[in-house]
Amino acid sequence: MVGVLALQGDFAEHAAAMRRAGFATRLIRSPAQLAGLDALVLPGGESSTMIRLLTVEGLWEPLGAVLRSGLPVLATCAGAILLAERVEPEQRSYGLLPIHVVRNGYGRQLHSGTFRLESDVLPAGTTATFIRAPRIVDAGDCEVLARRDGDPVLVRRGPILAAGFHPELQPDHPVTRLFTAALGGAGGVQRHAPALP
Ligand code: GLN
Repeated sequence: MVGVLALQGDFAEHAAAMRRAGFATRLIRSPAQLAGLDALVLPGGESSTMIRLLTVEGLWEPLGAVLRSGLPVLATCAGAILLAERVEPEQRSYGLLPIHVVRNGYGRQLHSGTFRLESDVLPAGTTATFIRAPRIVDAGDCEVLARRDGDPVLVRRGPILAAGFHPELQPDHPVTRLFTAALGGAGGVQRHAPALP
């Protein structure tokens, strides 16, 4: 059961990507829905809005406890900002990933787009969509799995996989597969099922 934080942002696309990979999903909007998850997705969106809604819904602390419990987490864009140890401009975060991010570090909407990634673990030619993306200016002791023009854009540390881009917007994206392959279980059997149109 993969939980997808569903307060704001592109949670629906993430849930669809996880279902396409063969996993059951649960949209997370209240603390009770955090029980019994096997993995968690923190989607992209607007991190400042997510922080406000997490606080209003009484989710900030319970979500933190789940994140600290060590279950596998896929955090993309705003989701990665929520986990970063250092956020610029300064903003509340869980500090579970030793990265330093600059919000909107590639410029605003005008500079959003699809870019080719450099990576030893993703297939050659893999591209990714960046939307008002955070720039990871320091990846600390995270493993850097992909770069864009030399900057780290996909990092892993323990159970956390964090991307500055949006794998869920491309069907069967290698980063989605990288995450789901590590989950195994019932979903693992079907994870090579063809993507829906
Ligand atoms: N700019 C957003 C933020 O700072 C992140 C954008 C995204 O998630 N696509 O939270």
